Amino acid sequence: MLVSRQVLAASSAYASPYYIVRGMNPGPVMMITSGVHGNETASIAGAQKLADHCATGRYVIHRGTLIIVPRVNQQAYAKKIRGTPDLNRTFPRRQSGKAKHPLAAAVFQLARAHQPDWWLDLHEANGLSQLSPHVLGQTLITNPGSSSVPICRRVIERMNRSISVRNQYFNLKRHELPGSARTAASRLLKAKSVTVETCWSLKRAVRIKYQTEIVHHFLREAGMS
Ligand SMILES: [Zn+2]
Repeated sequence: MLVSRQVLAASSAYASPYYIVRGMNPGPVMMITSGVHGNETASIAGAQKLADHCATGRYVIHRGTLIIVPRVNQQAYAKKIRGTPDLNRTFPRRQSGKAKHPLAAAVFQLARAHQPDWWLDLHEANGLSQLSPHVLGQTLITNPGSSSVPICRRVIERMNRSISVRNQYFNLKRHELPGSARTAASRLLKAKSVTVETCWSLKRAVRIKYQTEIVHHFLREAGMS
């Protein structure tokens, strides 16, 4: 396993580190982004922890290539704000279309170069989806008709089996969101793309644990770990 640290949008004000983890055997490519919104800190911590554990060999990628961008919007993260404009509306909407923000352009260019089979975009949101269908906290979100739907169902089933507090169960949502990383990855790169949303009001350690477990489930589903 080889881990290299590189810099996204290097020599610009948006410069942010990312990691390429190469397993010993060929296999799928998975892209993991977090910090598209700078204040969703448990998802950012989870992604950084995964990168660190890969670098120290505590977590092993056996097959394929994992690309982790833990703090897409480093400037928003520094201020612990969501960031304006909303970066998750600035990804390309058509095959020939351009991203509407230099950061979204840099992330999508990185993705195009690696052609990910999978893309997990880690976020956090308000509320508990188990208590209200109108909130996004504790959900996995896919595009309607995505081939990732059955996989998300299995991951949710495994997650919920391990969660003792029923209110914190995860649920699946299907939603087309033009300009989002998920929809761009699904529509333009044909990747199995999923948005992961933990609930903000839970304890930070619990949120990081959920983020980490979900990512591990997807890496196993992809046959990478
Ligand atoms: Zn978000």
